[in-house]
Amino acid sequence: MSQTVLLPEPTVREQLRRLPTRVGKKYFIRTFGCQMNDHDSERIAGLLEQDGMTATDGYESADVVYINTCTIRENADNRLYGNLGMIKAVKDINPEMTLVVGGCAAQKDRDLIRERAPWVDVVMGTHNLDRVLDLIDHAEDWGPITEVVDELQAMPSSLPVRRELQHSAWVTIQVGCNNTCTFCIVPSVRGVEISRRPGDIVREVERLAKDGVVEITLLGQNVDTYGRDLAIDGKRSPIFGELLRRVGSVEGVERVRFTSPHPNDFREDVALAMVETEAVCEQLHFPLQSGSDRVLRAMHRGYNRRKYMDRLAMAREIIPGLAVSTDIIVGFPGESDEDFDLTIEVVEEARFSQAFTFIFSARPGTAAALMTDAFVPDEVIRERFARLVETQNRITRELNEEMVGSTFEVLSEGPSKKRPEMATTRTRTGNLVHIEGDYSPGAFLDAHIVSAAPHHLVGIPV
Ligand code: SF4
Repeated sequence: MSQTVLLPEPTVREQLRRLPTRVGKKYFIRTFGCQMNDHDSERIAGLLEQDGMTATDGYESADVVYINTCTIRENADNRLYGNLGMIKAVKDINPEMTLVVGGCAAQKDRDLIRERAPWVDVVMGTHNLDRVLDLIDHAEDWGPITEVVDELQAMPSSLPVRRELQHSAWVTIQVGCNNTCTFCIVPSVRGVEISRRPGDIVREVERLAKDGVVEITLLGQNVDTYGRDLAIDGKRSPIFGELLRRVGSVEGVERVRFTSPHPNDFREDVALAMVETEAVCEQLHFPLQSGSDRVLRAMHRGYNRRKYMDRLAMAREIIPGLAVSTDIIVGFPGESDEDFDLTIEVVEEARFSQAFTFIFSARPGTAAALMTDAFVPDEVIRERFARLVETQNRITRELNEEMVGSTFEVLSEGPSKKRPEMATTRTRTGNLVHIEGDYSPGAFLDAHIVSAAPHHLVGIPV
């Protein structure tokens, strides 16, 4: 029988003191969704390794499987239950395996997961990652357990970590979101905005730099409002621009990125901090979502096309060579042909280096999911989507071609997965550059760009 239980409160310090109990056992983590989930999975891996476990590369060889779920990306539910079905077959052969489902879908649909996949041992939410070991212990000793809480128990960044890349790290500066975008489930699964104290963040970055990390990505749902909840005794609250300057001046940190700012809250002080802090990269993710004022209003985005373009122009004027990426949703309820044409117009005008394009998918629990009368037919969405992708691919290719013949500092991520004789590297603007040769992860070099493809560049070392 599954039960919803709140275990006694072990502090994070108690978790950290715990002696390894699963030495020799293996874990496998499957992550769906965004960088916030990737970051949480690194923390789950850190906790499991602290308990003596090592990573393995598939369900079959794992003693513990952790599925980090998403509710945002298209088809998230189908993929989740498809995977859970597959794992059931493995679990039938190896009933000793402990299956944990965490993340946003678990936070939102805990009962549904129990109902549709009763073979899951632990269902846990997004706010209590620090409890994973206790919950696994409980499931092994007493049977299935569900623990989903509404209040954040521990900032993910305060937990141990196992990073995929040793030279690059994400640092959470804020969790939750106070906005009410009508298509988004984040506020209900991640809660209200909570900022981490600047001193904690800087100390973590200093520790990472001492460990050899040269690239930091600051992570929050709306980084521009960072610190607003931290005002104490009438003192001015910390602001994001100041945090960027402090993180960028930590010795050993060569590159700082952040995601995501919100066009409604992005101000000049952040652009100035970016240009005046050498380590902060000339890269801005600036989610547009739609080019139509009518659709933006229905989405509750808080800005219109003019405001978006003005802020983009301000950022570009202050930061030379700025590369701007974006998110766009196609087929939001009520989107007409004219609305979509306006989106294409903005894409042509803004010349984004990259656009993450999404087909609208109604997430239960969001306001947009109730706009059923205005849903756009699938075939119309597909046609618009293809047009958008074609437009953006052309622009990305043109921008990449403009880089041919120039030299850029790149940071190696190690051998390319598809062509191991090449190294995968990135420019400060986030462009992917393949270079022949063996460059260890974390190595800096200068690359002369010799050719461009729609999604990458090819360079030679100089
Ligand atoms: S700003 Fe909007 S889209 Fe982004 S997390 Fe908050 S509610 Fe969701």
